[in-house]
Amino acid sequence: MNCYCCSEREFEDCCQPFIGGIAKPATAEELMRSRFTAYATVQVEYILRTTHPSTRKFHDAESIKIWARSSNWENLEIISKTEGEANDKSGTVEFKAFYTDADGKPQIHHEKSNFRKELGKWFFVDGKVLSN
Ligand SMILES: [Zn+2]
Repeated sequence: MNCYCCSEREFEDCCQPFIGGIAKPATAEELMRSRFTAYATVQVEYILRTTHPSTRKFHDAESIKIWARSSNWENLEIISKTEGEANDKSGTVEFKAFYTDADGKPQIHHEKSNFRKELGKWFFVDGKVLSN
């Protein structure tokens, strides 16, 4: 089965090991992709665990769960990125997540996210929602 993050790789060779805690994303993009997959598969705990401790308090498990569950996550498009490679300490990823909302209406979530690496682990810090 192709991975939910639209990498065209097998799920078990892509985001599954990250969500299962067997492997760590090496880049900000890999973390971003695995968080999209976590939305698609409603893995709320993973979304919170990969949010930086300094901003985690702004995210609430119940609202994540409702949004993840009521939406049908269809496609992910990486628009651009800066740094965020294996040897970097921070990076940004701009992406568009295509989904259908609870009313069956197609939606695009366009965001530029900030990522930071601490003790060898990438975290999502915060993001800015952009207009489509
Ligand atoms: Zn993936």
